[in-house]
Amino acid sequence: MTMATTTTDTDQDLGIDVDDPGFDDGGGSSCDWDDYICDEDPEYYMVWFCDDPDCRLRHRHDFCLRHYALRLIMILDHISVCPAYRDAKTPEERRKVTMGHIAAWGRLGD
Ligand SMILES: [Zn+2]
Ligand SMILES: [Zn+2]
Ligand SMILES: [Zn+2]
Repeated sequence: MTMATTTTDTDQDLGIDVDDPGFDDGGGSSCDWDDYICDEDPEYYMVWFCDDPDCRLRHRHDFCLRHYALRLIMILDHISVCPAYRDAKTPEERRKVTMGHIAAWGRLGD
């Protein structure tokens, strides 16, 4: 229910270095929407981490504006009902759960 007011603030202090989430190119790729192929140019990115602390995979996902907005809504919706988030007792635990869903987001190239 709670639509957080976080959509435009990319300056959140989440304790990770988001200055270098592996920016490689800026061109040539397309939207990372995974339900179907989307050919739009990505304009925004999101980072979320998997459960493996040793994972070295790139966790950045680039989206076109439409899918970025969609995905953000889906994530925020999910967090409001997420069992892991509900079970988190401390702010630190909640932070970790949140980072597993969304750790960073913003406009590409900024
Ligand atoms: Zn991973
Ligand atoms: Zn897209
Ligand atoms: Zn969850």
